[in-house]
Amino acid sequence: MSDRNTDTPNDFIRAIVREDLTSNKNRGRVHTRFPPEPNGYLHIGHAKSINLNYGLAREFGGKFNLRFDDTNPTKEEQEYVDSIMADVRWLGADWEDRLLFASDYFGRLYEWATYLIRDGKAYVDDLSAEEIRQYRGTLTEPGQDSPYRNRSVEENLDLFERMKKGEFPDGSRVLRAKIDMASPNINLRDPVMYRILHATHHRTGDEWCIYPMYDWAHGQSDAIEGITHSICTLEFENNRPLYNWFLENVDVPHYPRQIEFARLQLTYTVLSKRYLQRLVKEGYVNGWDDPRMPTIAGLRRRGYTSEAIRSFCEAIGVAKANSTVELAMLEHAIRDDLNMSAPRAMAVLDPLKVVIENYPAGQVEEMVLANHPQQPEMGTRLVPFSREIYIERDDFMENPPNKFFRLAPGREVRLNQAYYLTCTGMVKDEQGQVVELRCTYDPDSRGGTTPDGRKVKGTIHWLPVAQSVEAEIRLYDTLFTKPNPGDVGEGEDFTANINPDSLMVVRGRVEPAIASAPAGSRYQFMRQGYFCVDPDSQPGRPVFNRTVTLRDSYKPAP
Ligand code: ATP
Ligand code: MG
Repeated sequence: MSDRNTDTPNDFIRAIVREDLTSNKNRGRVHTRFPPEPNGYLHIGHAKSINLNYGLAREFGGKFNLRFDDTNPTKEEQEYVDSIMADVRWLGADWEDRLLFASDYFGRLYEWATYLIRDGKAYVDDLSAEEIRQYRGTLTEPGQDSPYRNRSVEENLDLFERMKKGEFPDGSRVLRAKIDMASPNINLRDPVMYRILHATHHRTGDEWCIYPMYDWAHGQSDAIEGITHSICTLEFENNRPLYNWFLENVDVPHYPRQIEFARLQLTYTVLSKRYLQRLVKEGYVNGWDDPRMPTIAGLRRRGYTSEAIRSFCEAIGVAKANSTVELAMLEHAIRDDLNMSAPRAMAVLDPLKVVIENYPAGQVEEMVLANHPQQPEMGTRLVPFSREIYIERDDFMENPPNKFFRLAPGREVRLNQAYYLTCTGMVKDEQGQVVELRCTYDPDSRGGTTPDGRKVKGTIHWLPVAQSVEAEIRLYDTLFTKPNPGDVGEGEDFTANINPDSLMVVRGRVEPAIASAPAGSRYQFMRQGYFCVDPDSQPGRPVFNRTVTLRDSYKPAP
């Protein structure tokens, strides 16, 4: 990631790291990790976690691992591993040679589990999943011991080995840690460590038919890798005692510390892989990289830059209490970035033809337009001007109110960096719709000023009819109609709040200079917003995504 922000962020996690460095805990090392489960694409919430973990490593001269938490073969796929690696890299985080997988530790975890059995701290339980739930008790009532809790060490070792060998069907037995069925913390009521799953794993194939649970695998993986600060989201706060119990009861090479922070929640957005998965599978969007998705792949295709995502992450900061961030903050970050970096261009989204009757037929002038008003070093481009041009349909009104400063019968307007234009007539179709305007131009107003100093209030964009190029332009709105998509009636789920108008496709026109720009090219279309070229484009047949409008376009949360 770039060093644009020289002032280091300050938050409670950085305070802990500084304290640890001062007291020489971990012998002055800082080592973090990002531990995604490869069961979906990364989203903007993951970017917050990556930015934090990688940022800590970078700021304190430490190391950062990318570790896949691949302990559930039924939900995980290589496609997700590949997309996650691409996204982490695109966000600018560098794991160097430390691309790691929890599945690489299955052997070591198995050894540690047998150690716990030998120590009388783990047992094989034959209760069904449902029975285990019933025996677990509730927040107000203690749990009950399983009838299998006091099996001998020998019997447990034998059964666990046979579980591993594949002698038992899925769900018939589990290995549980023997902690305390009466603990006020339900996580400590003999949590399941292994389950039987005869499933093919995307990396280990059919080598294993028992798989470790998250709580067992996660902390031990941190310990194996020498992670110093194991940062996770707040919902794992009650798992911390268990995280520590597993570390304290086997002979680990190192003690990581778990620290929880508030997960990102965004208005008008869902950030749970389970929900995002449903949006994709049930066809509400066109794949994980649909530009309406809050995934990194979706945001990238929408036109977001990794710099904007990083400055958003820095602006929201890191806190210990959950809260919801306004989507407007994310949009602000991308506008801020593109305002400086995106060249300007003209696009007409809803073209209305104008014939300039006093402009010589057949004449073409090449107008020289600046690519950026504040940055002359971004150069200029040519836009041909001729007798027939397009303007935006809503820049014309037949019966305008007084305050309408654009084009209307008898009124004069400035064509951006071209000429003054006066409307002299209209052509209508059978339904009375205006289909063409007749105008005259002032030949002395080239460049947008006149010798008599006459002023007009409005400046509008335009394109030449002959040389402009048709473009498919995809206009996006929020995917949900409510700031909190989970706000639903009885018997409904978040899909009840899906915005049916989140995508509007128009056939517009763009300047010839950008008609064959490569996918990913970003522009500010004058008066319209920021747009980028979609990978669906063909040479000369561009497709543009609207990244963001020029101003907030929706209501903030109440
Ligand atoms: P989801 O709820 O979207 O399924 P997850 O926590 O199951 O997310 P993981 O792949 O396990 O997804 O997440 C990897 C890391 O990203 C974890 O450390 C997790 O805490 C962090 N993370 C996930 N969602 C968010 C979020 N919204 N904000 C900040 N960090 C997040
Ligand atoms: Mg998770």
